[in-house]
Amino acid sequence: MDARKKIDRRDLLKILAGTAALAPLAGCKANILGSPVGINRLRPPGAVDEEDFTGRCIRCGRCIEVCPYRSIVPLDATDGVNAGTPLILAEKMPCYLCMECVVVCPTGALQKIELEDTRMGMAIINNETCLAQTDDTLCRTCYSVCPLRDIAIHLKEFKPQVDTSACTGCGVCVHACPIEDSNGVKPILIDPDFVPQGESS
Ligand code: SF4
Ligand code: SF4
Ligand code: SF4
Repeated sequence: MDARKKIDRRDLLKILAGTAALAPLAGCKANILGSPVGINRLRPPGAVDEEDFTGRCIRCGRCIEVCPYRSIVPLDATDGVNAGTPLILAEKMPCYLCMECVVVCPTGALQKIELEDTRMGMAIINNETCLAQTDDTLCRTCYSVCPLRDIAIHLKEFKPQVDTSACTGCGVCVHACPIEDSNGVKPILIDPDFVPQGESS
């Protein structure tokens, strides 16, 4: 009886210790259960819908290992159920569309798609802060670096314009853009939730 009481007490202590360990995470429940995808935070090419991704990805890390540019990083424990799943932080290192990751994924979390069909998101230009739109500055960095130059992005009267039907969301333009405002926000970003209208912007 005494022994059972001791075990119960130990179990209780374990439970309390576990609760205490989880307490700091309680305030970030959205991070634990929510999607890590957002502005400039992208799944690799060919990723299935985000609501299915966490279940399809087995956290094997093959996409991360094969990427020659180290564009893909594994999420850590602060991302809760998404820990170990792959993410691209476009501002730090974009995707260069080599398409090697889609070949090695064993589960179909990344579908075997072609480069031109990749839609990680959409490049959006802020006309208020983009140098080429606001000044007479002849900045064309985003246009120059785009792997699909003159297809996904073109110049209209020397100003870069994204073609929403062809942009892959690779983020190469975001990475290369030399400008940021006082809050560190660049005039071009990748929106993973943008729904293409099928027409040039
Ligand atoms: S397509 Fe190539 S560059 Fe892009 S994330 Fe996959 S392996 Fe990396
Ligand atoms: S290769 Fe596929 S299953 Fe493995 S970590 Fe990457 S997305 Fe997940
Ligand atoms: S416009 Fe930017 S995000 Fe779109 S394909 Fe070109 S470099 Fe990639």
